[in-house]
Amino acid sequence: MNRSAAYLISIAASLILVLWTGATAVSQQTSLHNKRLSGAPSSIPEIAIAGASAEELAVIRSGAERSIELFAQCGLEALDPIRVQVENDAIGVCGVDAFGAFDTKAQTIRLASTKACRAMAKTNPAYASLPFIKFYESIVVHEVAHQIFRSHIGERSVSLATHEYVAYALQITSLPPDVRQTFLKPLNTKPPADLSPFVDMVLLMSPETFGALAYAHFSEFGNGCRILTEIIEGKISFPSSEEFE
Ligand SMILES: [Zn+2]
Repeated sequence: MNRSAAYLISIAASLILVLWTGATAVSQQTSLHNKRLSGAPSSIPEIAIAGASAEELAVIRSGAERSIELFAQCGLEALDPIRVQVENDAIGVCGVDAFGAFDTKAQTIRLASTKACRAMAKTNPAYASLPFIKFYESIVVHEVAHQIFRSHIGERSVSLATHEYVAYALQITSLPPDVRQTFLKPLNTKPPADLSPFVDMVLLMSPETFGALAYAHFSEFGNGCRILTEIIEGKISFPSSEEFE
């Protein structure tokens, strides 16, 4: 890999880890329409949050519960305790600064503080115009979605794009409609006709566009919970990048 390609991927990776967006209260919930089995989770797993200020504590808990609720709307329970560790600085992942990351080994979400996230969000036009706390909450939704999705697929290996499709789709679904519109409008994406955009290369080249496409596809009538459950059941698999070379 030449230097410019490595640079591009490292920048893209930082953006990916930055684009997990937010959640809100039950009153603002967006139905995932199809196959809605229940409006509320039958049980909420333990949510343990360490290192947070009082304000962060409330936002993180709300984001975690929102993510759990979105899965519950599709009849999917959160199976494991959710642990969040708030850190003062950006989360270093593969040499880039990120808002957060789900540490699969430790089964812990590492989340940068509001102060650190705010400083990072200001430098990215895709996030700078969003109400910061809603954006921060959405980062939690994204990370908790990674954890819940992983708990349902078990040891099965799926592409990075598959993981990110689920996390972005639920993150953007969780946003209040006006905030979602502010995020989506500049990207101007249309629902894709097929699954071809959902490959790792598109994700790495433009995480924001990938996220917007994921939401556009996921929110199409007939998709939503059907897509989520069929991915989990292995009935749908996204194409690999190699198929498009
Ligand atoms: Zn992610």
